[in-house]
Amino acid sequence: MNASDSELALSKPLEAGLYIVATPIGNLGDVTVRAVDVLRWCEVIACEDTRVTGKLLKHCGVSTRMQRYDDHASDRQRQNLIDMARSQPVALVSDAGTPLISDPGYRLVRDAREAGVVVTSLPGACAAITGLTLAGLPNDRFLFAGFLPVKEKARGDVLAELGDVDATLIFYETGPRLERSLRAIAKHWPAREVAVARELTKLHEECRTGSAAELAEHYSQFPPKGEIVLLIGPPIESAPDGDPDALLREALEYLSPSKAAAKVSKVTGLDRQSLYSRAVELKSQ
Ligand code: SAM
Repeated sequence: MNASDSELALSKPLEAGLYIVATPIGNLGDVTVRAVDVLRWCEVIACEDTRVTGKLLKHCGVSTRMQRYDDHASDRQRQNLIDMARSQPVALVSDAGTPLISDPGYRLVRDAREAGVVVTSLPGACAAITGLTLAGLPNDRFLFAGFLPVKEKARGDVLAELGDVDATLIFYETGPRLERSLRAIAKHWPAREVAVARELTKLHEECRTGSAAELAEHYSQFPPKGEIVLLIGPPIESAPDGDPDALLREALEYLSPSKAAAKVSKVTGLDRQSLYSRAVELKSQ
């Protein structure tokens, strides 16, 4: 894009305020026309890492001043940005994707709003949403839960807490931790369908689906590189052809035998009464 394209896209001078600007998650072609306008015409760009954002700015032909910012910044630094945004346009970007989504910005936005500064958000790439659109899992309800904890106990606690959430779960993950997380998921939810969405928008983009155990096996042989979104289909609904015993066991983790039988019956079409008898048996084992 050249400067004249950009001037055409910007219909009026940029007003004062805080602009939350989403940037690409890999493919620089995903930067929006409006994002380039705002980045070009704002007074300062608050960013996590000036080298990372500098590459994007260079690609877009933008030379606006950058200033480091993250949520550990001092109150004074945050206040300075807010004061500036009262009379000038200030942009916030993160290294990649949508600011505030597992990235800095929450405190800045909260304090800016409290101070009466105009805050606006420019939508764009977000790995969680891109993964959700690719995985083919139910998407009418989803819950984004950030990164799974690294420590085994904390990770197990999170999985237990989310076990009965009737929605597709979305986590951010890293290559070195993926197999361990998949093994933990396999233990908690053997019947749920899982998707690993990797290197989204990049050359080696991949989305692989299966049970957590299958995926753990695959990635133990082919250790994954790059950035990862891990998605887990909702309880039971994502495994209509699953083994009824496995479905019942999973449902019994958080439902009574009668409710578990009703749920599995709805998904599989199997007789509810027989499922109930089996659920009672499984519960007592
Ligand atoms: N704010 C970003 C967003 O909107 O997606 C997320 C930032 S978070 C610090 C970084 C994590 O997002 C990575 O560890 C990975 O889990 C996920 N991620 C970012 N880019 C990705 C990509 N291109 N493909 C898959 N996952 C990605």
